Amino acid sequence: MGDDTDAAASRMAHDGAGEEAGSAEPIEYVHGTEPGLAERAARTSEVELHPPGRVEEIIVTGPCPACGDTTFHVEPLFLYRGATARGRDVVVEVICACGVAHPGAPQGEDGCGRSWVLSVLVPG
Ligand SMILES: [Zn+2]
Ligand SMILES: [Zn+2]
Repeated sequence: MGDDTDAAASRMAHDGAGEEAGSAEPIEYVHGTEPGLAERAARTSEVELHPPGRVEEIIVTGPCPACGDTTFHVEPLFLYRGATARGRDVVVEVICACGVAHPGAPQGEDGCGRSWVLSVLVPG
């Protein structure tokens, strides 16, 4: 185990000595999206339509395509009132909320800052 007494110095001199196996350090917080995130998320995310039959919200769970931590997003469909979401693709914007403390994250943010979109087909 490393004795990390000087945070500022260790931040500059981080050379990745490869001592730790199995536990990756959290990546740095970056607000925004990146190419490829949406594609990766589309393959790994689990989408649940709730309640079944009369969908009122879309629940997305799965690993964040950027940091790899498990994240969770609920998209309420009452935003679509006046127009039905049934039988169409709803584009959900997911923002990482993995709960891991990523370096550089502003207070109140509980993810790595990355966001991506997921297209969800709501059955008619
Ligand atoms: Zn994370
Ligand atoms: Zn993340």
